[in-house]
Amino acid sequence: MMNNLTNVPIVAKFGGTSLADYSAMSRCADIIINCPKSKVVVVSASSGVTNLLVELSTGKLNGPQRTVAISDIRAIQQKIIDNLALSDQVIESISHLLAQLSDLSAAIALKPSAKLTDKLLSFGERLSSTLFTQVLIGKGASAVYFDVRDVLRTDSHFGKAQPQVGAINQLVSERLTPLLADNIVVTQGFIGADPSGATTTLGRGGSDYSAALLGEALGAEQINIWTDVSGIFTTDPRITDQARAIEEISFNEAAEMATFGAKVLHPSTLVPAMRKNIPVFVGSTLNPQAGGTIVRNQTNTQPVYRAIALRRHQTLVTVTSMDMLHAPGFLARVFTLLAKHNLSVDLVTTSEISIALTIDSTGSESGGRAILTPELLAELRDVGQVTIEEELALVALIGNKIDSSYGIGTRLFGALSDVNVRLICHGASQHNLCFLVDDNVASDVVNRLHQQMFSLNSEGQA
Ligand code: ADP
Ligand code: ASP
Ligand code: MG
Repeated sequence: MMNNLTNVPIVAKFGGTSLADYSAMSRCADIIINCPKSKVVVVSASSGVTNLLVELSTGKLNGPQRTVAISDIRAIQQKIIDNLALSDQVIESISHLLAQLSDLSAAIALKPSAKLTDKLLSFGERLSSTLFTQVLIGKGASAVYFDVRDVLRTDSHFGKAQPQVGAINQLVSERLTPLLADNIVVTQGFIGADPSGATTTLGRGGSDYSAALLGEALGAEQINIWTDVSGIFTTDPRITDQARAIEEISFNEAAEMATFGAKVLHPSTLVPAMRKNIPVFVGSTLNPQAGGTIVRNQTNTQPVYRAIALRRHQTLVTVTSMDMLHAPGFLARVFTLLAKHNLSVDLVTTSEISIALTIDSTGSESGGRAILTPELLAELRDVGQVTIEEELALVALIGNKIDSSYGIGTRLFGALSDVNVRLICHGASQHNLCFLVDDNVASDVVNRLHQQMFSLNSEGQA
């Protein structure tokens, strides 16, 4: 019989840097032990492991290069193992995982595929969750390893699988909830399985999303995202040391930040949390006492300017046709072609004779041109003249009622007076205003805008 404590668990997720080595894992284990409601732990792969697995999955490494990558992965695990007193059975299961990983990378080198890639990438989280379970057990906790593929059902879109929420909810209540009565359950982020049981992944950084999906299925009290920064900041603290942590932020604002590139949360993370109205906490494993950010439905304040996000790897496509002056159907033709070629568009601006739109090429090795296939370009050229600009970055100012606030233009253009703004979108959302600039000035632009919008006066107010 479950008591009240286990009825409403907290789901805690730890990111890669927080699991990089034994002492980092030990800090995470202490966080779990000090918060008895944290009964479900979702882990990422130890820092660097997924990148090595991605390299192995390309099939581009030769034999010796593969050996180096695999021994790097082994070394990361070994350093953690050296600090643990493991049973023969656990040592055996880790050796088995590493042997499977090695065999699979040899198979991929011969014949790369999206399906095998997802299987290979899953080893990072499977290894870290095996080890983290042992770190908890080593500290006296009653922890069990759980294979998330038993519950995290997705479609078969390898590399960016879509979760099947109904199936997940049912599987979680059948297979995971019963374990919570007596155990802390340690499981993997990022990975899932399709209906045939094939391993899938949710896309890079997807462990946050996994935690939220499990939180939704469990009806969790809260989803805690533990990372390497003390919350969601007014902008990426790597861009400016002026960035500061935000105490509380609404789901809508935080979702916009994630969508527009704030890496601290995977873009889909807040969707399940919003469906079930579950607050999300973001804090640092390096300094758990420092507190962090609470993301929730309602906030005490709704400032016009909350944060600035930056998303790199943007490609701008412009289609121009004089024939279209006063002719209906131009936009419909362009969008029909994009939909036919399965291309999702982010920002759009139009004039009578042209349309400019951005596409995201994050993760594509050869940039936007690789996404714009020759077939699509040929069909777009039937509609009008096509120009492509690459190496652009999208800067988004996030806040509330931005669409109807006075004075934004003065501040914005004041900060950008000498910058070539390629496209600007304002008015469609009350939560953002965004624009495109050259990638090489993007950090500087964010810095200056941050200074303009968020610099503190003597009372500590922006
Ligand atoms: P994890 O491995 O824990 O998932 P990530 O590297 O994915 O961590 O995300 C944390 C990083 O997100 C931070 O180190 C920070 O550089 C970056 N980041 C980008 N934008 C923001 C922001 N607005 N607030 C906080 N961190 C941000
Ligand atoms: N390990 C995966 C990645 O590096 C997922 C995650 O960390 O969220 O993308
Ligand atoms: Mg992350």
